[in-house]
Amino acid sequence: MRIAKRVENLPPYLFVGISRKIAEKKARGEDLVSFAIGDPDMPTPKHILDSLCQAARDPANHRYPESDGLPQLRQAISTWYQHRFGLTFNPNKEVVPLIGSKEGIGHVALCFIDPGDIALVTDPGYPVYSVGTMFAGGDCYFLPLTEDNDFLPHLDQVPADIANRAKLLWINYPNNPTAAVADEAFFKKVVAFAKRHDIAVCHDAPYTEVAFDGYRPLSFLQTPGAQDVGMEFHSLSKSYNMTGWRIGMAVVNA
Ligand SMILES: *Cc1c(COP(=O)(O)O)cnc(C)c1O
Repeated sequence: MRIAKRVENLPPYLFVGISRKIAEKKARGEDLVSFAIGDPDMPTPKHILDSLCQAARDPANHRYPESDGLPQLRQAISTWYQHRFGLTFNPNKEVVPLIGSKEGIGHVALCFIDPGDIALVTDPGYPVYSVGTMFAGGDCYFLPLTEDNDFLPHLDQVPADIANRAKLLWINYPNNPTAAVADEAFFKKVVAFAKRHDIAVCHDAPYTEVAFDGYRPLSFLQTPGAQDVGMEFHSLSKSYNMTGWRIGMAVVNA
């Protein structure tokens, strides 16, 4: 049986390989600290569990939500963005609930990438940015994240022909795996770069609520002009220890 080329050409999914290596070492009795997939090891907070138990017993929740997502959830996402970042998104047009943000991150390339188009993808980075690009038939141009630039991509080093062919730019701050954070000055550079080359920016932001010593990470969409070029993916997985029952969202200018 022949499987599709897009599957044949796919590199092995990084986390599967890492998990396999960890399992082998554990089977040999080695004591390991895992730097594999980021998965909070604390329980989901009690108020969420209580709500879930109550909601699970309501037959209204035993049916499909509306295709564009439960209106109450879209409203709750919009309200959260307003409280947390002071940003207003229309819950009926600018908020998309996701089955974990990965659902959107993996599929968004289908909206922007035609075969042969380029996505600019930070390296190291969450593997779904590049796999989603490949599934859409696109090519990745990797932007190294290095200490000399505080683990921010050097946008001014992207060759002009690549920047002009690029349709998407992936960024992720606070960053996994480097833990680097981005300030407004960097986000302003991203907006200018995206406008100059007509590129859509996807900011993957599941760690804005995981910060220390009073530091409050920004939403990319707070940057002036960012809503002309960008969208943001967010998730309850890391903020609320809910990786076992994922809920994510995307917010974007309609
Ligand atoms: C965990 C993680 C995600 C995906 O989160 P889900 O909402 O559970 O799909 C996306 N991006 C990064 C960088 C992550 O670490």
